[in-house]
Amino acid sequence: MNQRAIAIDGPSGAGKSTLAKRLAERLGYLYVDTGAIYRTVGLAAQRAGIDPNDAAQVTAMLPKLEITLGHGEDGLQRMKLDGEDVTEAIRRPEISLYASAVSALREVRQFLMDLQRQLAETHDVVMDGRDIGTAVLPDAGLKIFLTAAPEARAKRRFLELQAKGIQEPYKKVLEEIIQRDHQDMTREASPLRQAEDAVAVDTTDYDLEESLNLLLNLVKERFQ
Ligand code: C5P
Repeated sequence: MNQRAIAIDGPSGAGKSTLAKRLAERLGYLYVDTGAIYRTVGLAAQRAGIDPNDAAQVTAMLPKLEITLGHGEDGLQRMKLDGEDVTEAIRRPEISLYASAVSALREVRQFLMDLQRQLAETHDVVMDGRDIGTAVLPDAGLKIFLTAAPEARAKRRFLELQAKGIQEPYKKVLEEIIQRDHQDMTREASPLRQAEDAVAVDTTDYDLEESLNLLLNLVKERFQ
């Protein structure tokens, strides 16, 4: 890998996507949100009326899917499913659990591996996900494992949804986060875990700017 790569892994709501996006902007790297790719497969399963836990049905659906990832002029990632822009549709709360379920399937992870690796071969990237440092880009120059207490993560996600006009009770958001953590950490295929050579960053008590500065310092130490 000739390009520079920063892998940011961690549970949902730890601030990965916001921080990875801002970090990429500051460094002039391409931001790659791998969760959006899994969400696109989750959306496809939901639309096809498929049980996302049914490996045989999900696997049979994969070769028929046309998933493309592009970047708008604003540098933000847009997802397409069979030619339709689904960037907003994949953010609906019910798609999160579909994404989490399909992402537990080895076939799905393998199917999406090349797409993720190709981007890192052709660009300097900040890539966020669950297994970037452990499986997708094991040679990444900097690996960060971003965490925060479940309550802090649920509160952030709750406010994010509210800002988008999606009314979801806090308690339900917290329950879903805990359920998703459990699914992501206990699955057999690429479970969410900290890579041995990753730097752990806990953002519970930090706001966005403080967390961003922390990450920028880590980049400076590592790359300059
Ligand atoms: O990050 P986000 O919440 O959008 O990801 C949606 C789901 O996709 C996660 O719950 C996780 O199960 C799965 N995922 C994954 N591996 C990645 C990124 C996301 O399994 N690299």
